Amino acid sequence: MTQVPPIYSVWGMEEYPRSLAELEARFSREEDCREYLTRLRWPNGFRCPRCQGEKTWPVRTVLLQCAGCGYQVSAIAGTIFQDTRTPLPVWFRAMWWVTTQKNGASALGLQRVLGLKSYETAWTWLHKLRRAMVRPGRELLAGRIEVDETYVGGPEAGLHGRQSEEKAVVVIAAEEDGLGIGRIRMRRISDASQASLESFLTETVLPNSVVHTDGWSGYRGIVAKGYVHEVSNLKPNDQSASELLPRVHRVASLLQRWVMGTHQGAVSSKHLDYYLDEFTFRFNRRRSRSRGKLFYRLAQQAVAVDPIPLDKIIEQGRRNLSKP
Ligand SMILES: [Zn+2]
Repeated sequence: MTQVPPIYSVWGMEEYPRSLAELEARFSREEDCREYLTRLRWPNGFRCPRCQGEKTWPVRTVLLQCAGCGYQVSAIAGTIFQDTRTPLPVWFRAMWWVTTQKNGASALGLQRVLGLKSYETAWTWLHKLRRAMVRPGRELLAGRIEVDETYVGGPEAGLHGRQSEEKAVVVIAAEEDGLGIGRIRMRRISDASQASLESFLTETVLPNSVVHTDGWSGYRGIVAKGYVHEVSNLKPNDQSASELLPRVHRVASLLQRWVMGTHQGAVSSKHLDYYLDEFTFRFNRRRSRSRGKLFYRLAQQAVAVDPIPLDKIIEQGRRNLSKP
């Protein structure tokens, strides 16, 4: 870490490019990208797992070698970039493009902007990046939270059918932030049963939070799980469901619009989880003024996740891919 480009000191701890031009100037070489990823991966400085040494030498493109004992470690092993044959600057451009698409990224768009020959490659990359949009160990929602289920994949978002053959059931939790919406979490669940809903809640919402739901029986056990339960029952000819739980319904309708718009409804149930992750990632950072900051978060998370075997994704892709 001795050869630090001048711009690094300007960027400080959370350094990120402010524009495409800055991205291209800063990350045109493999070693610059590796150096950046290395710092994201070891924010407190690299420590050799063998000798605790702190000094390293770069070897080839992505390896670091401990100056003390000669131990070699890859900056991208165990990350979404593992085993890639594509130069890292191209990956960086892909991350930039994905984070700057306001309404979500499509494989076709990525293929065009990077000039990739293969649609499948673009599709695979996009899924790897979506995978990185979930921060491992992210914090739980807290405070007052609206929770309800919705159905995704059909022409209409309906919140109270609770039985659906073709559509996927997605449970949504939305934090209250005054009259607005704070952070959200969502997950596809196999059904709206008590077991499915409770497992979602305990993994996404802090105990002692106020969980506001409708009168669905699937929520009746949540007090025993440590939550304060607020129930609003829908009365006939009184309020509409969207008035009872306005935030979660707002999120559900945005999600539905996004699926139908950006993806023309072509979200296969199998890959829905990745799309939900992308939606959540964008939504929770919607107030972030700087696109560069989204890029930073994505890069940071990209070096913090397990790799998905490429052949596995491609195999899934071949089976599910319907070319546009
Ligand atoms: Zn060492």
